[in-house]
Amino acid sequence: MNQEFDRGLHEECGVFGVFGVNDAKDLTYYGLHSLQHRGQEGTGIVTVDDKGKMHRVKGLGLVTEVFNNENLKTLPGKMAIGHVRYATAGGGGIENVQPFLFHHNTGDFALAHNGNIVNSNELRQFLENQGSIFQSTSDSEILAHLIKKDWLNQSRIQVITEALNKIEGAFAFLIMTYNRIYCCRDKYGLRPLSIGVLNGGYVVSSETCAFEVIGAKFLRDVKPGEIVVIDEDGLHSYDYSHYKHHKMCAMEYIYFSRPDSDIEGTNVHAFRKESGKLLYEEAPVDADIVIGVPDSSLSAAMGYSEVSHIPYEMGLIKNKYVGRTFIQPSQELREKGVRMKLSAVSSIVRGKRVVLIDDSIVRGTTSKRIIALLRDVGAKEVHVRISSPQMTNPCFYGVDTSTYEELISAHHNVEEVRKIIGADSLAFLSTAALYKAAKRNELCLACFTGKYPTQLYSSIEQANKDEK
Ligand code: SF4
Repeated sequence: MNQEFDRGLHEECGVFGVFGVNDAKDLTYYGLHSLQHRGQEGTGIVTVDDKGKMHRVKGLGLVTEVFNNENLKTLPGKMAIGHVRYATAGGGGIENVQPFLFHHNTGDFALAHNGNIVNSNELRQFLENQGSIFQSTSDSEILAHLIKKDWLNQSRIQVITEALNKIEGAFAFLIMTYNRIYCCRDKYGLRPLSIGVLNGGYVVSSETCAFEVIGAKFLRDVKPGEIVVIDEDGLHSYDYSHYKHHKMCAMEYIYFSRPDSDIEGTNVHAFRKESGKLLYEEAPVDADIVIGVPDSSLSAAMGYSEVSHIPYEMGLIKNKYVGRTFIQPSQELREKGVRMKLSAVSSIVRGKRVVLIDDSIVRGTTSKRIIALLRDVGAKEVHVRISSPQMTNPCFYGVDTSTYEELISAHHNVEEVRKIIGADSLAFLSTAALYKAAKRNELCLACFTGKYPTQLYSSIEQANKDEK
């Protein structure tokens, strides 16, 4: 990954599934490709053939690097689940690339997970004491072991219900057996999971943008605390928990999800544009042009421009073809001005008072570099407006937001951050504006407020204390 403009904010994963549609592997390939922004370190697909046998291809790298015509041919069947991974919990390595595949004398099953289990240490200890042997260091495997323990003695839905009730944290799980896909979402509603219909079958995805690509129609979201079972007879809904909240991760709206995705009824681009409008209402500034940091801040910049009547300009251009394997410029070349990922357009910026809209400040290093870029090409003033509140706490729900140590706003007030990044003025959006833009009254805002929706458990609480 190009580190020059890496803001230190990463989603961990995306999941995708197909039930009852020919060439499920091809649809899963395209689905995963449109979820690639959620994880670039590894990917995999498992299919079930008409004899109930499971087939898997997985590897480290992008969807286009791991899959090809040859290996996709080894994935027959009308059912599939797939996964894209960004590795933090459990680290990298092929053994942690999902879907996981488990063999059991009552039938194999595959599992894919987006999110993070906060009581993973406790559960892993419990399972190892009972004789479970883990194949990976990923916490996603815990659910599989909880399921395996009782797979023989009880109905599958009962086993999955009991297992999910032992798990605390953020998750969207897809579990595939030879004839069913179980779609499970955490009771807090932290991670998204949506169902679509296609050619008489079903598709499931972390984001609805994947439906558009394959021509599927959105049907509904999996609800918090719900298991939707897909089989030959259609969809069946079960509640694994009666405790239900809709605390969707606010960063899904602000940064992670693609603008063409809808999250629980609100389009991501529309949310961002509205947050840009509210940002102007909360923090107006007199300037000549509005510039958004590509790509995730462009919608908010449009909103800010629309209400302020300050023209929106493409003052920063992203080179989309800087891949993970691109040879990075040496320090010497960098100092000479070789910048690979973002360029400021001098003919647009020179002599102007700029409002720079960005969606977040994590460590502050990215903002500092972008402001320096704009000043280098002659910006007269740079006023930074952030379309989210100050990020003061780490995330424990599957988003790598850095530690307390690294979060600039955990240690500095707005004026101090302004000085460090070198802006003429700086303002952040309020939490109230986020609710308004998302048109909802529940969200997870823990990385801004420190109010975590779940209990955090021993290991995380200890890490918290150590870092503070
Ligand atoms: S803590 Fe922040 S990044 Fe993590 S789930 Fe909550 S809102 Fe999302």
